[in-house]
Amino acid sequence: PARMANAAPAPSAPANGPIIASFNENPLGLSQKAREAVAASAANCNRYPFVRVETLRKACADFIGGKPENITLSQGSAEAIRASIEAFNEPGVQLVIPELTYSDGEMCAVRNKMKVTKVKMGPNWSIDIDAMKAAVKAHKGKSIVYFVNPNNPTGTIVDSKPLNDWIRAEPGVLFLVDEAYGEFVEDKRFVSTATLVAEGLKNVIVLKTFSKLFGMAGLRLGYAYAHPETAKRVHEHIAYDIFMNVPAIEAALAELNDQEFIALSKNTNKEAKKVLVDVLDELKLEHLPSETNFVFFNLKAPLAAFADRMKAEGILVGRPFPPADGWCRLSLAMPDDMRRIAAVMRDFRKKGWV
Ligand code: PLP
Repeated sequence: PARMANAAPAPSAPANGPIIASFNENPLGLSQKAREAVAASAANCNRYPFVRVETLRKACADFIGGKPENITLSQGSAEAIRASIEAFNEPGVQLVIPELTYSDGEMCAVRNKMKVTKVKMGPNWSIDIDAMKAAVKAHKGKSIVYFVNPNNPTGTIVDSKPLNDWIRAEPGVLFLVDEAYGEFVEDKRFVSTATLVAEGLKNVIVLKTFSKLFGMAGLRLGYAYAHPETAKRVHEHIAYDIFMNVPAIEAALAELNDQEFIALSKNTNKEAKKVLVDVLDELKLEHLPSETNFVFFNLKAPLAAFADRMKAEGILVGRPFPPADGWCRLSLAMPDDMRRIAAVMRDFRKKGWV
């Protein structure tokens, strides 16, 4: 009570379990139409999805602007990342990645005993394209470049022009461009690398997921978009199309053309991001310009202590991302939950914790 005399009451912890701000998920969950489609699909779960898989392949092609033969469906984009790397594995190949990026590419290469070349980041944890080019040039064998745009955990984009020009100039290098968060981007310098597939390039695979914009992380659905020859090669390293499951296919089909839900998903994310960015600005905590559904900010202090204190308040934040020590990745929750997170952070400032 003494404290409440001159400050807003400390926000109370959420009643229904913690606020999960740790895994870059979509807090909205499935759209209403997808929930209904999943429930209705229960009646068909005894059937193999031969026909519906082809319907989904066509719907994905329409969504990204290609043909069904450009699409290799997968269980989450995680499986497409793995299959793409394994499809182009050969003796002497290296995987080139920025030092601070999504971990799946490296994990897959390590499992396959491939050489991994990690490239140092540029200023403000940017991806240094020139340094990545140099890593490709310095290697005698083939290179696979895994490029996440916008990047995770930084949330930032690279200007698409130098990236796409590089891909056009290096037909002998395979580029995996992971655009898991592409739909959230507002910065006009971002041009989806999908345009290069449309140009007919064979050395590029664009990876897409239903886990982010579409809120389907638990249903596990994604795809690779590539030239038909490249897509076929990836497909040969996927289990089989009929490994897609019926509820996931029906949810995806319900959401792909649901412009209302897509707008809601983008707008909710935008509103949540503004709450977080505003409090970070207010507290003068350095943060990177996020084009995604998470924000990377500089605590200038060990993450573990902050994460523990947030956990005590019922808020789960992202794991450590070395070499960005002292930085925290916070995934965007619902706007109201973000307002609670903002209040907790103001409270932490009063206590001298941030
Ligand atoms: N790619 C990026 C950049 C991600 O951040 C993630 C998950 O966070 C994935 C791929 C994997 O997602 P999923 O397998 O759910 O499609």
